[in-house]
Amino acid sequence: MSAPYFQSDAPGEAAPPPPTPAERLATPVEYLRGCGRERAQVLAKLGIHSVGRLLFHFPRDYQDYRDLIPIAELKADTTASVRGTVSEVSERLTKSGTRMLGVLITDGTHALRALWFNQPYLKPKFRNGQSVLLSGKVKLSGMRWEMAHPRIQWLEEDENVSQGRMLPVYPLSEGITQGQMRYLLRVAVEAYAHDMDEVFPAELLQRWDLLPIATALRQIHWPENPAELEQAQRRFVFQELLVLQLALALRRQAQHIQLHSPALPLSAKIDARIRRLFPFELTAAQDQAIREIAADLGRTVPMNRLLQGDVGSGKTIVAVYAMLLAVAHGYQAVLMAPTEVLARQHARTLARLLSGSQVRAGLLTGTLTPQERSATVASIQAGETSIIIGTQAVLSEDVRFQRLGLVVIDEQHKFGVRQRSGLRQAGQNPHYLVMTATPIPRTITMSLYGDLDTSTIREAPPGRQAMYTYVGTADKRPRWWDFVRKKFSEGRQGYFVTPLVEESENWDAASLNRVHGELAQGELRDYRLGILHGRMSSHDKDQTMRAFAAGQLDGLVCTSVVEVGVDIPNATLMTIYDAERFGLSQLHQLRGRVHRGKYPGYCCLLPGTDELTEEAAKRLQAMVDTYDGFALAEVDFDLRGPGELFGTKQHGLPPFYVADLQRDRILVMEARAAAQQLASVDQGLQLPEHAKLRKKVLEKYGRDLDLGDVG
Ligand code: ADP
Ligand code: MG
Repeated sequence: MSAPYFQSDAPGEAAPPPPTPAERLATPVEYLRGCGRERAQVLAKLGIHSVGRLLFHFPRDYQDYRDLIPIAELKADTTASVRGTVSEVSERLTKSGTRMLGVLITDGTHALRALWFNQPYLKPKFRNGQSVLLSGKVKLSGMRWEMAHPRIQWLEEDENVSQGRMLPVYPLSEGITQGQMRYLLRVAVEAYAHDMDEVFPAELLQRWDLLPIATALRQIHWPENPAELEQAQRRFVFQELLVLQLALALRRQAQHIQLHSPALPLSAKIDARIRRLFPFELTAAQDQAIREIAADLGRTVPMNRLLQGDVGSGKTIVAVYAMLLAVAHGYQAVLMAPTEVLARQHARTLARLLSGSQVRAGLLTGTLTPQERSATVASIQAGETSIIIGTQAVLSEDVRFQRLGLVVIDEQHKFGVRQRSGLRQAGQNPHYLVMTATPIPRTITMSLYGDLDTSTIREAPPGRQAMYTYVGTADKRPRWWDFVRKKFSEGRQGYFVTPLVEESENWDAASLNRVHGELAQGELRDYRLGILHGRMSSHDKDQTMRAFAAGQLDGLVCTSVVEVGVDIPNATLMTIYDAERFGLSQLHQLRGRVHRGKYPGYCCLLPGTDELTEEAAKRLQAMVDTYDGFALAEVDFDLRGPGELFGTKQHGLPPFYVADLQRDRILVMEARAAAQQLASVDQGLQLPEHAKLRKKVLEKYGRDLDLGDVG
């Protein structure tokens, strides 16, 4: 047993209680053996103040020196690691003029020569007497062992690696060496790992095959082998993912209990009244999505549904159906779009569909005149306008709904969690449908968007024609322009998209004007070309879109403002300049613009350079090979990783510390299943054995996911 914390001889004075584990973990790193004030200041720069936090300073990598052997036991042409002392450093020029650095190391009895060619910066790093670890392929040259370009690890004097093991490699900051960091972590793990609180009950550790926290800490810092490391990582990644999944499950449960939405049941009569307005039969996939949505809307539990469907799969009409169902019950519905162009297009679609009905729809964007705006706002408040189509402007303070029953958000990935909840508060618990044409990989829907139910439209509307995609290398361009002229002459239309550079104010218009000028005087001089970009006034934008929709323009030179949702079936040609600068989902979105009507679509990707990076080349090739947006989303996910696609900025949640949604796909599913199971047996995580887990969930996500009043 440990000695009392304080010795007290004073009679009658009770010894203070020994520190609790939590207090011990709160010990400032300064007091850790081998640390001291100076190093504590360095650690502070890494955000590390307490020993408890230090334990979570995980290695960023590991060096595997398990194959460390004495020089005497080396075998030619194998890979091995040896430890030794530098006994000679020499540099010379070879006959061919290469600089060769030779470093002789000895392990007491035998010697090995390490060689580097043309790496002059290495020489000053070696000093006689220094301890080093070298790993690489061994060769026997004459009577001497040699390693060319081995991996080097400089050792501290006190570093005992003679066993041959895996070494952690830590993120550092100036003022602390790798060896010192290793030492501190070894001390910290030995002295404090067992103080760490276990959030999982023993039964769950066993069921999910997780290491206890103290063991996991030991093994993540000092794994004996890769299997141990993997076990340790599994524990931390699983915990992190589970905590998120539990947060989402709790949020869902809380909403089910606390929030009430109007029940908007579907009847045969309403169904017939809605369908009468539609110019076409719905596809089986659309009907299925509608059934799922209508089932949700029929209940007082708020709907929280994601409708995903590839570009052109016909999501709009499904949304319109849902909105009309709300209206049939005397409620209002909002359709929110990410861009003005798209909002206006939706408004036109609705106006067309509703021309034979009493339902009033209104447009609310940021560019209405003050008079238009106040009239619209007033009629929304009075409940005269039943369907409101708008941009983020519908989130404004002054927009009050009379009876908001349903919110539809188009192109969901453009809106973060925060905006979603902002809109939610605009009414009293409306139902909530989000739509995306950028299919979200399954791992992501199950994690970051795990609070949403999902409906998927996988089938395109009937009569969808073929789609052709080309990479327009220089030699193929003349043929492409021939083709464009031929199609224009047949009456088809096309987009010519250039990337938008955000940094430069004028770039947008300047580059568009240049492309427009080149085309208008060159390849397409006999045709009518318009221009569209984000900085035009909304009036001009609207005019141009109308002219294009009416066929008064053959081509539209534009930025990616047409990326989302624009629907002009007669446009069948898409030319994308500097295509390598667009992401895959964006390219697919753009291509979707010309794959809508009764004609085949053609997309030409024009690289802006002859020297594409490997990643860019793969992206363009994926566009040629794959037309399925869901498959492309997975490719994109592989090429770029989730960070860039669904960065914290977009989903609005705190970042992960150890989990990686791409690497840890399987664990995401396991954690989700585990969370659902846990939440179903213990609603709100109220059982005492789940208290610690619950605390973790609230600490990390309570604020962002409004979990404050759970339980
Ligand atoms: P997205 O899913 O990309 O939003 P839209 O809703 O814009 O797709 O639909 C794409 C095109 O398909 C539109 O022109 C729309 O009118 C048409 N469309 C949708 N559903 C059907 C259907 N069931 N039959 C025929 N055309 C349809
Ligand atoms: Mg759409």
